[in-house]
Amino acid sequence: MVGIDQVLEKLSTVIDPDLKKDIVSMGMIKDLELNDGNLKFTLELTTPACPFNVEIEDDVRKAIGELTELKNFDMNVTAKVMEGRSLDADTGMASVKNIIGVASGKGGVGKSTVSLNLALALQQTGAKVGLLDADIYGPSIPLMLGMKDGFMEVEDNKLQPAESNGLKVVSFGFFAEQAHQAAIYRGPIISGILKQFLVDTNWSDLDYLIVDLPPGTGDIPLTLAQTIPITGILVVTTPQDVASNVAVKAIGMFEKLNVPIIGVVENMSHFICPNCDERHYIFGDGGAKKISEQFNMPFLGEIPLNSGIMSGSDVGKPIMITKPDSPSADAFRIAAKNIAAQCSILAAKLQEEMESEGSNEESAPEASTN
Ligand code: ADP
Repeated sequence: MVGIDQVLEKLSTVIDPDLKKDIVSMGMIKDLELNDGNLKFTLELTTPACPFNVEIEDDVRKAIGELTELKNFDMNVTAKVMEGRSLDADTGMASVKNIIGVASGKGGVGKSTVSLNLALALQQTGAKVGLLDADIYGPSIPLMLGMKDGFMEVEDNKLQPAESNGLKVVSFGFFAEQAHQAAIYRGPIISGILKQFLVDTNWSDLDYLIVDLPPGTGDIPLTLAQTIPITGILVVTTPQDVASNVAVKAIGMFEKLNVPIIGVVENMSHFICPNCDERHYIFGDGGAKKISEQFNMPFLGEIPLNSGIMSGSDVGKPIMITKPDSPSADAFRIAAKNIAAQCSILAAKLQEEMESEGSNEESAPEASTN
């Protein structure tokens, strides 16, 4: 008769392609029961948006299928997003597992459009997602979501995010009066507003909080990097942006602050001909890939230049909602899955670091009292 150790041995042959570790040592097998040849367990994937979820599930079925003496096999598949940031060090936002800052070298590259559609793509996989529009000088998310008259209530001294299409949304644009005056706000006031949006908001349980940062390297990106532990920064570029090297400065700032760079997404990367489906790289091919190689950071996707993306944003109807089957929506979905995978990789690294710190503390020689 098959024993538990044989089952675990078989399951250990299944490797998570992102984390490069076997699913047993990653703790992805839960509630395992083996009674008289009847096997039952839960496979807990690291994020519902993992690009390899189907592959891992298939590999598990194949591995278990090799245990020919089993009478029955029942697998429940779930996903629990890993914590990509140190929650112990952040009591203010301990219910938000991953915070992703979206940055760009300059304005107009489509950073807000990309932030919003990626947030929706992650939400559509089943993850709990929030979107913080931290572009205080030009908050565009309310317009892109058709929430111009949106507002946030305050309950128990906490801001309650507005809701749209399953996303929890906070934007400076909801404070119309203040938004008018934003241009005159400087340093400490700006930092204070962002801190309130982060810490004094009832985000409740979130798997991913996407923070749409203003372009460049001003007070807000700096405050985000220094106030709370974040999972990392996603850089949005266009081929022209790459050519003029403006993204490089922003990347440099986050690297100096020791904030992980999750990777780069190239927006307006190419045009897909509606007649022949061919891709035309109007502004040159491979720019963002070069940046990703230069800075040794993952290249996470390329979003086409598409009038539907623009018109959808301008009338409050994002393409992930109106045309979820379009090639543009596919491109956002691919990028979102790659981002979720990178967050899991960063989370696994963090877990390892914390474990090794813990074991170093345990094995550290006791201080001499002499
Ligand atoms: P940023 O946040 O970088 O300033 P926005 O997201 O506001 O940029 O986008 C600037 C303009 O470009 C908007 O009109 C938006 O609709 C348009 N846009 C963004 N991405 C695309 C795209 N992939 N295809 C077509 N238009 C786009």
